[in-house]
Amino acid sequence: MSIYADAKYSEVPVETKQALFDEVKADMRYEHQLYGCYECGICVAACPSARFYDFSPRVFAQVMAREDVDTFYELLNDSVWDCSQCFSCTRCPRQNNPGAVITIMREVAVNHGLQSAKEALKSYSRIIYKIMSTGTQVAPDMLQPDFFPDWGPDVKQVSENLDVWRRCVPPETMHTTELAWDVSEKTRLELYMIWKLTGNLEMIEKIDEGIFMILEEVMEELLEENGYDIDDFENLLEEDEE
Ligand code: SF4
Ligand code: SF4
Repeated sequence: MSIYADAKYSEVPVETKQALFDEVKADMRYEHQLYGCYECGICVAACPSARFYDFSPRVFAQVMAREDVDTFYELLNDSVWDCSQCFSCTRCPRQNNPGAVITIMREVAVNHGLQSAKEALKSYSRIIYKIMSTGTQVAPDMLQPDFFPDWGPDVKQVSENLDVWRRCVPPETMHTTELAWDVSEKTRLELYMIWKLTGNLEMIEKIDEGIFMILEEVMEELLEENGYDIDDFENLLEEDEE
């Protein structure tokens, strides 16, 4: 039974909730994150998200320890996305790490393509695409006066002369306006292979098939241009799975 009187997701079969709960607990990292809970609330006092949301790391520790799969499912769909992953909750006198449990829960939510995961990560699509296709995250040309009116008139001056400002930065790899710095093709390919081999691309496919397809196309073109045989690469993955 859920600890909440107005429990949500009552239409979801308990078997589904239990399977997701078991998946979190089966993760090899899990047993190193929770050792029992005093309910002292120190983690809540340290948690920045608890100040701004209806959110509590203590609840995660309690729900997992009590094997409350109904409340677990609510947390998995809602509260996991309120954590800022700062790990201030590791101040716990029992050496618990609720933030790390939340990390595992997020991965399970993404791997199962839960609607909440899709919605929570929707606004990151551009960032995911940018990192994976260029190797960098933010770009100088995002600095537009309309986006940051509270930064004052300097933003307008910088954005109008961005190219000049960027060329004043000593490293030549930063003489760019569309990228934070120029990442070599070799590095981009290495990053792509890491994401593919570690299953990160599969996770992206679960939450945003459109971005996944564009990335596959962009990176496979780059692989071909650099003389890599994609079939060999796929075989390497299959051998690794066996
Ligand atoms: S990692 Fe999450 S739960 Fe832990 S203190 Fe930070 S915001 Fe709170
Ligand atoms: S600090 Fe640790 S023991 Fe205290 S409530 Fe949080 S998880 Fe439980």
